[in-house]
Amino acid sequence: MTEPRHFETDAIRTQVPRSAEREHSVPLFLTSSFVFDSAEQARALFSDEIDGNVYSRYANPNTDEFVHKLCKLEGGEDGIATASGMAAVFTSLASRLSSGDHVLASRALFGSTHQILTRILPKWGVSFSYADASDPDTWTSQITPSTKLLFVETPSNPGLELVDLAWLGALARERGIPLIVDNCFATPYLQRPLEYGASLVVHSATKFIDGQGRTLGGAIIGDKALVADARFFARHTGPALSPFNAWMLSKSLETLAVRMDRHCANALALATHFEGHADVESVRYPFLPSHPQYALAQQQMRAGGGIVVLVLRGGIERCRRFLDALALCSHSPNLGDTRTIVTHPTSTTHSKLTEDERQRVGIVPGLVRVSVGLEHVGDVIADIEQALASSR
Ligand SMILES: *Cc1c(COP(=O)(O)O)cnc(C)c1O
Repeated sequence: MTEPRHFETDAIRTQVPRSAEREHSVPLFLTSSFVFDSAEQARALFSDEIDGNVYSRYANPNTDEFVHKLCKLEGGEDGIATASGMAAVFTSLASRLSSGDHVLASRALFGSTHQILTRILPKWGVSFSYADASDPDTWTSQITPSTKLLFVETPSNPGLELVDLAWLGALARERGIPLIVDNCFATPYLQRPLEYGASLVVHSATKFIDGQGRTLGGAIIGDKALVADARFFARHTGPALSPFNAWMLSKSLETLAVRMDRHCANALALATHFEGHADVESVRYPFLPSHPQYALAQQQMRAGGGIVVLVLRGGIERCRRFLDALALCSHSPNLGDTRTIVTHPTSTTHSKLTEDERQRVGIVPGLVRVSVGLEHVGDVIADIEQALASSR
């Protein structure tokens, strides 16, 4: 049989081999370790002469399936699964960096990634600097001989800034510096950074990959040599994904394409509805022509994603009244759920940044992030309309 070629088919038909029970749906391997057939096999497994299950901190059939599937979807050579998105981000950085090294990253980053760069890695003598997503000079001028990694998030959380992956991927290849892309907002269904020259993709599978707000998880996918370093680091430091969560996440990937199509359609409808609304100062969404990087979004993304940013008139006090008036939408820090979630980054996810740092990545006090869910979009729009009206 020829290999399945399409995203949806790979997402559904990548499975670990069926057991002697002939099950149709993949079983859960709730086991911490595996038995050896012989003393010789044990020796060979531990010396990496052969591949096989040993211990679930290293790998497990459920994590293997999740990773193999994600490798196919991202077009990556190899990968590992991690317990959370932050475990993936940290492992991708820490497994490569030594004291004296420098990381050049896009300024608009997930809050905890910013904390790793500013508060954790400097303790071990690793420095960083920030470049502006859309200004090429800030990238080329800040690369030094110590720059060992480039790290970006596109679209960024929550400002929805894009980085030109073709341009940065080419720069990374030319300078021989691996580029890591946090592909959490787009998922491989909308954007495949490895095709543009990125060396690794990191994921918070907690978001759209699970898509149902049930579990934390993460993954690192990409270049074989870099994944080998990440695997060594993870194997000995222990950020392993549990078999149960891996089983759930692999199941979730089966429906990623249909879910993302609907997330994107609902998000575009909501963004279009609120653009020009009297209570809304501005709307940001990559597939709205008013987005400053609309052309780039069209070029590197299949659709605009499930996140819409609304800047409400009336600043922080208005936002607080608005959040308290929502009846259907959830007020929660998560995103990428079937349920629409509204978040106020200034007072929650990005509250640890200084006012100046927030301003520089476009997080103004009136900004709310809407993770548009899979409810009927008319009901979501109606809820936001009533909350806007009652918060005036
Ligand atoms: C949520 C998120 C993370 C962290 O993922 P966890 O699974 O919560 O650890 C990293 N990057 C981005 C862009 C995120 O949205």
